[in-house]
Amino acid sequence: MKVVTEDHVCYSMSPKNKPAMTIPQGEVFRLDAKDCYSNRLKSEKDFFTAKMWDTVNPATGPVFIEGAHKGDILEIEIVDIKIRDYAVMSLEHGSGALGKFIEGQETTILPVREGKLVISENLSIRVNPMIGVIGTATEEDTLNGTPGEHGSNMDCKIITAGSTVYLPVNVEGALLAAGDIHALMGDGESCICGAEVSGSITMRAAVASRKIPTPCVETDRFFYFIGSAKSLDECEKIVLGKAHVFLTNSMMMKANEAARIMSLAGDLQVCQIVDPLKTMRFSIPKDILPG
Ligand code: CA
Ligand code: CA
Repeated sequence: MKVVTEDHVCYSMSPKNKPAMTIPQGEVFRLDAKDCYSNRLKSEKDFFTAKMWDTVNPATGPVFIEGAHKGDILEIEIVDIKIRDYAVMSLEHGSGALGKFIEGQETTILPVREGKLVISENLSIRVNPMIGVIGTATEEDTLNGTPGEHGSNMDCKIITAGSTVYLPVNVEGALLAAGDIHALMGDGESCICGAEVSGSITMRAAVASRKIPTPCVETDRFFYFIGSAKSLDECEKIVLGKAHVFLTNSMMMKANEAARIMSLAGDLQVCQIVDPLKTMRFSIPKDILPG
C-alpha cells in the first residue's frame, strides 16, 4: 500500500501545494497524520504557545488523484483509522465556547487503553476515532483551520472508518489532504479541542458517479449534508438548502414532499462551534429514500 508519511504536511488547502503522491482512482492508500499540535505537546509540562499557531492543524498530503478534474465530485471512502496510545487536550481560559469556565492553562494527556480513552481513575469512554480535517484544494489558498465548501476543518464526528466523504474537485487532481484526528469528540467541540491524536488513515478515492451536494458524508444509514459559515443561523440555511437540492434533484421528489420529509425525518446537528467558521450538518435517513 502506498503511504504518505507524516512529514508531508500542508497547512492550507492550496493549488500551489506540490503533491506528496499520485494515486490512481480506487487504489487504497494511507495517510500518516500528526496531531493538530504537530505532535509538539508531548507531556503535561508542554503548553500551547502563540508561536505554535503556524504549525497548528497540519494535514498530510496533498494527494493527487489521477483523472479527477475540476467540476468532478471526489468520493472518499474511509477504510480505517488507527490512533496512537494517548491523546492530548490543551485548555486555556478564554478559548473556545467554554472559555470563561476554564481556569488557567492546562495540557492533559489521556491514555488510550483497550479501545477506551481514560479520562480519570473512574471514567473511561469508548473511543470513536474521527477525522477533523479532510479537504480538497480551493482555487485560492485556504488555511486548514477554516472549514468551507471544500471541506477541511469540519470537525464532523461522523467522519469515521466506514463512512464516505464527498468533496468538490476545484483543481486538477483534487489535491486531497487530511489530518487532525480525534480519538473522541462531542458535537460542538465546545472547549476548542477533541482528544487530539496522531494516527493513520487508510482510504480510497475516486470520482463519484452521482451528483450530490458537497460536502456530504454517507454512512450505512444516513446522508449528512454539511455547511460552514460565520453563524449557526447561516449554517442551517446552507445545509437545509443542500438537503433539499439532493431530495429534489437526485431523488426526484417534489419541492413540498422534500420539505415535509426533511421536517419529519431529517435532523439538524452541530459539528463544531469553535473554528473560524462554524459547521452544521443535516441528516437524511437512507431507508426512507426511493430506490
Ligand atoms: Ca479541528
Ligand atoms: Ca482538533
